[in-house]
Amino acid sequence: MRYDKSSDSAAKKGRYIIPKKLAVLAIGFTLFAMLLMVMMYSAKSGGTKAALQRNQAETSAPFVSDAVKSSNKKLAAYLDMQDRTDFEDAERGFIATFEDTKIMAEAGGVAYDFGAYAFLNGPAPETANPSLWRQSQLVAKHGLFKVTEGIYQVRAYDLSNITFIRGDTGWIVVDPLITKETAARAKALVDREFGVLPVTGIVYTHSHLDHYGGVRGLVSESDIANGVEIIAPDGFVRETVSENILAGNAMGRRATYMFGALLPKRADAQIGVGLGPTVSRGIPGLLYPTINVDHTGQTVTIDGVKMDFILALGAEAPSEFMFYLPQFKAFCQAEIINHTLHNLYTPRGAKVRDGQLWSKYIDQAIYTYGDETEVSFGSHHWPVWGKDKVAALWTGQRDLYRYLHDQTLRLANQGYTMHEIPERLNLPDGIAKSFANRGYYGTVSHNSKAQYQLYFGYFDGNPANLDPLGPVAEGTKFVEYMGGAQNIIDKAQADFDNGEFRYAATALNYVIFAQPENKQAANLLADTYTQLGYMAESGSWRDFYLTGALELRRGIKDLPVVRTVSADTVKAVPLDLYFDLLAVRLNGPKAAKKDRNLNFVLTDTGEKALLIISNGALHHRMGQSDADAPTLNLTRSALDQLNLKQKTFMQLAKEGSLSVEGNLLAVKSFFALIEEPDFWFEVVRP
Ligand SMILES: [Zn+2]
Repeated sequence: MRYDKSSDSAAKKGRYIIPKKLAVLAIGFTLFAMLLMVMMYSAKSGGTKAALQRNQAETSAPFVSDAVKSSNKKLAAYLDMQDRTDFEDAERGFIATFEDTKIMAEAGGVAYDFGAYAFLNGPAPETANPSLWRQSQLVAKHGLFKVTEGIYQVRAYDLSNITFIRGDTGWIVVDPLITKETAARAKALVDREFGVLPVTGIVYTHSHLDHYGGVRGLVSESDIANGVEIIAPDGFVRETVSENILAGNAMGRRATYMFGALLPKRADAQIGVGLGPTVSRGIPGLLYPTINVDHTGQTVTIDGVKMDFILALGAEAPSEFMFYLPQFKAFCQAEIINHTLHNLYTPRGAKVRDGQLWSKYIDQAIYTYGDETEVSFGSHHWPVWGKDKVAALWTGQRDLYRYLHDQTLRLANQGYTMHEIPERLNLPDGIAKSFANRGYYGTVSHNSKAQYQLYFGYFDGNPANLDPLGPVAEGTKFVEYMGGAQNIIDKAQADFDNGEFRYAATALNYVIFAQPENKQAANLLADTYTQLGYMAESGSWRDFYLTGALELRRGIKDLPVVRTVSADTVKAVPLDLYFDLLAVRLNGPKAAKKDRNLNFVLTDTGEKALLIISNGALHHRMGQSDADAPTLNLTRSALDQLNLKQKTFMQLAKEGSLSVEGNLLAVKSFFALIEEPDFWFEVVRP
C-alpha cells in the first residue's frame, strides 16, 4: 500500500455517477441537532398533547407528602426568605418590555414566550421547593433594564441575557442569545426605547450556544465585511462544536431530562432551571469572530468602548473570558460568576470541570478589578451594584467552588469515596446562606462527586465495585434475594410513607430493571420521583425526577425530532473532527472483518484525508491519500448539505458537486458501516 501525502494520484481514475442506492448513504448529522434540539424541544408539540392531558388529569390535585412539606419548610426557615435584595436588584433599572409576550419563530409557531411563567407570581406552592420557586420568580423577570448609564440588558427573552453597551456610534452587543428570533426581538425593544442605532460590535463571552446562537438576528456577513468586529475567547469556533459532538446524541437525550423539555410549564412541573427560565426554539447561527482574545490583560477598544479581558478557559466552558469596562466601572462576569452554584458536572453528561481553576479565575477578578468595579453583570441573572455587594457576590462564589474542590479532596484523602463524601460535605453557613450560592443548577452533591471523579474516576477502590453486574442482572438478583418483587414494593411503600424516598427509589429501580412491565413498581417509583422533584432545590434535579416519573407512567413517546440545527453550525465543524464523529458511529462488530481504505477529498477547500478501517476501528490521517483506494470527491458545501439532509448523494452527484473514483462498491460499503443512533432511548427502564 502506498501513501501519497502530496498529490492526489487517484484523480486519474474514472468518474462515476452515483447510483440512486447511494442516496441512502447520507450520513445523518443529528449530532448537534441532538443537543440543540433537546433544548429547543417544546412540550407543546403535537406528540405530547395526549400525555399532557393525561398528566394534567393525574396531577389535578397533586399529592404532596408530609416529608416534602416539612423538608421544604425547614429549608425556608434556614434561608432568609424575607430578604428582598435580589428582587430589588432584579427589578432595578426596569425600562420596558413588550406587551405581547410571544416571540414568533421564522419557521412558524412560537420561538419563545416570556409570559409562560406568569404562574410563578405568588407564594411557593407545596409542589415546589420554596428556594427554587423564589429563584424561578427572579429569572422570569423580563424586559429591558438599565445596568448603568450606557449599559443595558434584555433579560428573560431567552435562557440567557443579552447586554447592550453604548459606543460612540452604536451598540456593542454581548451574548446574542440562542436564536436569531429572540436576539432580534431584544434589539427591537432597545430600538423602540432608544431609537434605532446600528450594532458596531459583538462579544461572545463563551462557546456555549446560549451566548452566540442569535447573532444573525443582529448582524450579517456584510456587516462584518463593513467592519463590525466580533470578539471571542481563544479556541471559540472549535469549541462551539467540539465540546459535545462525539457524545452528542446521548447528551441530547439526557438534556431532555435536565431541562424538563417534555414537561409542561406549571407549578407542579417545569418552573425554570435555575440559570434562566427555559430555552428558545428558533434558528441558531454562528458568525465567526474577527478578534481573538488569547491572554489575560489583553485590551480591545471598539466604537470607543475599552474592554480589559481575563481569560477563563476550561472552567465553566472550554473557551470563555470575563472583562472589565473602565469607562463604566463595570465588570462582565460572563458565566463564571452567577446567582447560583453552577455545574462542575452537568447531569446531561459532560466532561467534569475543575472547581479549583474556576475559583482562581474569580479570585483574579477580585484582586484585579474588585477595588474599582461599581456594577457587575453577567450572562445570566441580574447585576449587583456597589462595591460591597460586588465583593460579597464574588467572594462567595470564589469560596464556594474552592471549598467544594478542596473539601472533597480532603475527605477523599481520608478514604471517603464518591458516594460517601456528599453525605458529609456541608457548606459553611457563610457560603450556604447566601442565595447566590444555592444549588439551583448545580448541587453540592453532584458537584462534589464531580471533583472526586476529576481525580479518581468512577472507581472507589473497593473491589466489590470493580466488576459489578449490569443493572438488569443486578436487579434480577436483588429481586431474587429479597424474596420477590412484592416484598420490595411493600418495603418501598413503607419507606415512601416515612418520607425515605432516596432508598425507595434505589430499590424500586432494581425491580423495574428486573421487571420492566411491573406496573405497581413503576407507579410507586414514579410517585417517589415526583416527591423528590417537589423537594429538589435544583431546577435540573427537579426536571430529572419529574421527567423520569413522566416516562415511567406513560413510556417513551417517539416524538418527532425537531431539526433546528443551522447550516452555520454544521459548516463550523472542522473536517478532522467530522471524521472523529464518523469513527464513533462506525458499527465496530460489523466493520471488524472489513478492513479498507478510502480517500476523502474536499474539492473546493483542497482538504483531503485518508480513512482507514482496521479491525473495526476507523482512523483518519489528514493530508494523506492511498493510491490504491477509492476516492470520494465532494465540495464542503456538498458535505454540509448531506449532513443537513438537504440533498442526497444522487442529487449532489447529478449537480457535479460529488463524485467517486475507483471502486464504487467499496465506497458504498464503507458508509454502510456508519450508523445513526436512535435518540429516544430508554433512561428509566432497561
Ligand atoms: Zn449560558
